Amino acid sequence: MDGLFGLKQLLLTFLIFVPIERLFAARPQKIFRHGLLTDMAFLFLNGWLVLVGQLAIIAAAILVNQSVLPSAVKQTINDLPYLVQVPLVIVIGDLGVYWAHRTLHVVPAMWHIHAVHHAVEELDWLAAVHQHPLDLIVMKAGSLFPLFALGFSAEAIGTYFLVYYWQAYLVHANVRLNYGPLRYVLVSPEFHHWHHSSEIEARDKNYAGIFSFYDLLFGSVYLPTGQKPKTFGVDNPMPTNYLALLAYPFVTWYRSMDATIRRAPGVQGDEREVQKTLIDDARLRRPPLDLSR
Ligand SMILES: [Zn+2]
Ligand SMILES: [Zn+2]
Repeated sequence: MDGLFGLKQLLLTFLIFVPIERLFAARPQKIFRHGLLTDMAFLFLNGWLVLVGQLAIIAAAILVNQSVLPSAVKQTINDLPYLVQVPLVIVIGDLGVYWAHRTLHVVPAMWHIHAVHHAVEELDWLAAVHQHPLDLIVMKAGSLFPLFALGFSAEAIGTYFLVYYWQAYLVHANVRLNYGPLRYVLVSPEFHHWHHSSEIEARDKNYAGIFSFYDLLFGSVYLPTGQKPKTFGVDNPMPTNYLALLAYPFVTWYRSMDATIRRAPGVQGDEREVQKTLIDDARLRRPPLDLSR
């Protein structure tokens, strides 16, 4: 989630989600919960940090559209009316989000970026914004790049982002909502809450943003009936203030690199220091997924 967030938008989102969370709470939780100020920093500052990356993605995609895409494909997409483009854009955009999100989970170096989003231990609507700017850029590369490269209209892509915006707040909201028989078609709050669960069985599951059928299709769905996640978060201690969270992936990458160099043959050093760095490095990784369960 990002955007150049204004006070009006915040007020509107607050007025919609706070009463819904009071009425249909999935778990008892305070409105002024732990980490609220940090989330405000994410809300108001992230959009500016993401802007440059977002413009670069769009520029690269337009270049591909103009130099690589066959003109027949370009013309066909261009001729599609807005009401046909919108559902196509949402389906293609969410497929991009699925694979970008899955990559952030399975590539260890990228997990350190995405761990910032999973650091949230009390889920509510505002937790949607608790995301590292690099995470947002990767997600946008997954969705915006194919959409602009294929040449869909800016209006259709804008509509998709409006849908994505409200969907992101809704799926993080602390509400009991699972969509019944549609739970394997659309991503519900229950579906995304499982994605944030720290329980072993739920890890690295439920990647889709809007259509849960992508997880069904690619074998990553986890939606046990009659249960709800007990705890959220990651295993290792995470920073709690905005600047430290921005620095988190860089600090972790540096530590991993440092440990690798110290492990290299011929490198001299204090053996205890090497061991300490390795232990720190291991703490910052998730335990491997237990595939036998
Ligand atoms: Zn995730
Ligand atoms: Zn989330």
